[in-house]
Amino acid sequence: MKILVINCGSSSLKYQLIDMSHEEVVAKGLVERIGIEGSMLTQKVEGREKYIIQKPMNNHQDAIKTVLDALVDESNGVIASLSDISAVGHRVVHGGEKYAESVLIDDTVMQALDECVKLAPLHNPPNITGIKACRNLMPEVPMVAVFDTAFHQTMPTEAFVYALPYEYYEKHGIRRYGFHGTSHKYVSSVAANMLGQDIKDLKIITCHLGNGASLTAIKNGKSIDTSMGFTPLEGLVMGTRCGDVDPAVVTFMVKQLGLSAAEVDNVMNKESGILGVSGVSSDFRDVEGAAASGDKRAQLALNIFYYRVRKYIGSYAAAMGGVDCIVFTAGLGENSPETREAVCEGLEFLGIKVDKAKNKVRGKSELISTSDSTVKVLVIPTDEEMMIARDTLSLI
Ligand code: ADP
Repeated sequence: MKILVINCGSSSLKYQLIDMSHEEVVAKGLVERIGIEGSMLTQKVEGREKYIIQKPMNNHQDAIKTVLDALVDESNGVIASLSDISAVGHRVVHGGEKYAESVLIDDTVMQALDECVKLAPLHNPPNITGIKACRNLMPEVPMVAVFDTAFHQTMPTEAFVYALPYEYYEKHGIRRYGFHGTSHKYVSSVAANMLGQDIKDLKIITCHLGNGASLTAIKNGKSIDTSMGFTPLEGLVMGTRCGDVDPAVVTFMVKQLGLSAAEVDNVMNKESGILGVSGVSSDFRDVEGAAASGDKRAQLALNIFYYRVRKYIGSYAAAMGGVDCIVFTAGLGENSPETREAVCEGLEFLGIKVDKAKNKVRGKSELISTSDSTVKVLVIPTDEEMMIARDTLSLI
């Protein structure tokens, strides 16, 4: 049985066709510049040359049609006909409070997704457009929505209600939702497997450290707290996002510096974080490079990042009454030994000891803690597409 996983952004679309009998990726690809001049699809199949289609794609329907054409293409495709696709799993950023699980898409779900747009005005609309386009092109094929927020719906009230007047939560839905849920769920389940333990017996802190970054405290298999909040801006320092700041900074920027709401939004989401502090780049590799050649602000940006992750690990250990396992994942977590070592430095008092030789690993699953470390530290490459495909399979 083959499942197509679709992750639709505003001008790009990522996809994977996964054969669920062996959980094997049959083809994966990217469509870029949807609705912009120079639209292009690149499809990769193991052992073959890249297949590139360049043609105008004015909207997501055009893009998805091109994806389907690429998959069934006589010489470059991987399936004989579209009837080989048993279901489609769609990544959806925000499911609000309504969805604590993935869901089979019908008209009622489509309406609920529209209602979530106000919570994720940048991310949900392209996700919805992608679903609509797929439903038009494959009306008979079952589709599933998998939400970034769903895994965190198990958080207890005290972890998700902000201490604003309660009506802001009740009337406007202002609360912590958390994101990257599919990734946190996936790597925590792999961690339990690697340790040979039931996830229900474990206290795990998962560190998703990419361009966007978040930590989650997972107790007995359930998310009980996570660092992103009402939006992905809260929490850790990220590539271009500031993470936690005193909320009064926002009013200061408006009243004293004369910035508009949109400008504050832009500064905090696009011009801050590692980029803002270092002045070098939002890409950690560039900033690590600059720091290594003596750039003090680049080093400061990294130090702030490490320090924030370390503080969150400490607070989540406190929230769970201990920690058995720490998982590093996503671009930086999987590939940067420097980050993992720096984050864990000084956490020996919690029983966290990283083995420097084992920590050299990049991009594959590995235990990197010393044999006498009471907390197991793991590197696990995330695979949100596989998680989406698994959820899709279980719902159809
Ligand atoms: P996102 O999906 O949020 O865009 P990723 O999970 O792909 O982000 O992570 C991207 C980040 O990971 C980039 O800042 C990149 O510099 C960093 N990264 C990737 N490989 C390495 C590496 N070998 N060393 C350090 N950082 C790395």
